[in-house]
Amino acid sequence: MGSPRVAVVGAGFGGVGVAAALKRAGHHDVVVLEKGDDVGGVWRENTYPGCGCDIPAPLYSFSFAQNPDWSRRYPPYDEIAAYLRKVVADEGLEPHLRLGTTVNSATWDDAAGHWVLDTSGGEVVADVLVPATGLLSRRRETDLPGAGTFRGEQFHTAEWDHAVDLTGRRVAVVGTGASAVQVVPGIADVAAHVTVFQRTPPWTLPKPDRRYGPLGRALRRRFPVLMLPARLGFWWVTVFVGWGVTGRPLARPALRAVSRAQLRLQVRDPDLRRRLTPDYPMGCKRVVFTGDFLPALSRPDVRLVDEAVVEVLPDGVRTADGEEHACDVIVWATGFDTTRFLAPMTVTGAGGRLLADAWSGGAHAYLGMTVPDFPNMFVIYGPNTNTGNTSVVYFEEAQARYVVQAVAEVARGRRLEVRDDVERRYDAEIQGRLAGSVWTACSNWYRTTTGRVVANWPGMAAEYGRRTRRLNPEDYADTA
Ligand SMILES: Cc1cc2nc3c(=O)[nH]c(=O)nc-3n(C[C@H](O)[C@H](O)[C@H](O)COP(=O)(O)OP(=O)(O)OC[C@H]3O[C@@H](n4cnc5c(N)ncnc54)[C@H](O)[C@@H]3O)c2cc1C
Repeated sequence: MGSPRVAVVGAGFGGVGVAAALKRAGHHDVVVLEKGDDVGGVWRENTYPGCGCDIPAPLYSFSFAQNPDWSRRYPPYDEIAAYLRKVVADEGLEPHLRLGTTVNSATWDDAAGHWVLDTSGGEVVADVLVPATGLLSRRRETDLPGAGTFRGEQFHTAEWDHAVDLTGRRVAVVGTGASAVQVVPGIADVAAHVTVFQRTPPWTLPKPDRRYGPLGRALRRRFPVLMLPARLGFWWVTVFVGWGVTGRPLARPALRAVSRAQLRLQVRDPDLRRRLTPDYPMGCKRVVFTGDFLPALSRPDVRLVDEAVVEVLPDGVRTADGEEHACDVIVWATGFDTTRFLAPMTVTGAGGRLLADAWSGGAHAYLGMTVPDFPNMFVIYGPNTNTGNTSVVYFEEAQARYVVQAVAEVARGRRLEVRDDVERRYDAEIQGRLAGSVWTACSNWYRTTTGRVVANWPGMAAEYGRRTRRLNPEDYADTA
């Protein structure tokens, strides 16, 4: 075969990273299908006040496209989206993009040995399929009683309604996860009153944000090597956090002490502090990095209610203790549906096997990327490749390097279908390691309703990088 035709689904960090890596390796027959009207993924979708990354940008960016122009250590969403647009331009990816194109289904044609994609823009045929549809791109829908009866405005953080002016309004923010901790300080100055509804307090760690001045930016532009120390430094910081989360003896108590100290310093009221003290192991739910959430909760015009919302009323919400809370606007900071990878796209593999069936007991894939019976398919940000302590972009770049090797194999005429025994052994190892992990100690978005951890990688990021560095052709059935 000549240059294989590659179809990438999604143009967030994952899809853009794969397309760039393929082009750099000389594979030009690449199409990136994106349902949105722009690239950016979550950074196109999430535009709520205060939205930005919480892993420092020198690390939360591509290794091959370090950016001297970040305005600050933790830039806002629009700057990250602009960065991705610039990467697309610099890497010459624009001609490969098909924006406004939703992939409804992908079906492996056994006889022809290729994928057929049914998209909103017509049929696309490809030798290699790379779904890069993201993990945090499907909103978790609220099914509380009365949701339709609310007379004010309501929206999810990932669908912020900028037409709604919050000035002088009473706002209810439901949730205290990673988005809520950014939204609450983001709106507290504008709204008349903010009520924050918390089911479980998050563990917090400081977010030492700072502006990058013009001189530093000019120097980094002139001498790009100057960007390396920051990237390396932040890498080691995230390694330490990773040690804490994965249970290294010294790191966990040290991080817990930092978190407790932050709470003590930023929340003076002992009762509020008590209600903000988590009673589950640190890391079980995603640790949130923040400098301004806790101080915002101490404001007189912000109230923390540590009761779950159980019902929506025409003029507010009711919590589990029966109290009614009047509000004009409800912000659902309730997160994402993280366990139905690739949904709602229908993927049908060899012999008519549905991916949804293969994953009915919880998603699993060799190295998070390949699934038996789904030839020449490589998932980006697939099962068990999420991290809560370092940059997802690191994992996605590792996957992009792997895909480049896979496409080279396909170019040599191979059909890559991971061996059942290889995938099964791998999955048993990953699940075995996860069984003793902190993520099984509470309910969180990393697990399915049956308790299987499907989102997270059990170890350190470097291990994932090592294990994906070389594609081992023997992991794949010999079906050439
Ligand atoms: C608010 C927020 C903050 C975050 N902060 C951090 C952080 O600080 N550090 C970190 O490491 N991670 C962070 N993340 C995680 C983030 O998801 C990843 O870092 C990364 O952006 C994922 O990129 P992706 O391309 O895999 O997925 P996404 O960015 O979700 O992109 C997927 C793309 O696929 C498209 N798509 C989906 N289905 C289809 C279809 N059927 N057809 C066509 N197109 C489709 C979507 O429109 C989307 O553009 C954050 C996530 C959110 C939501």
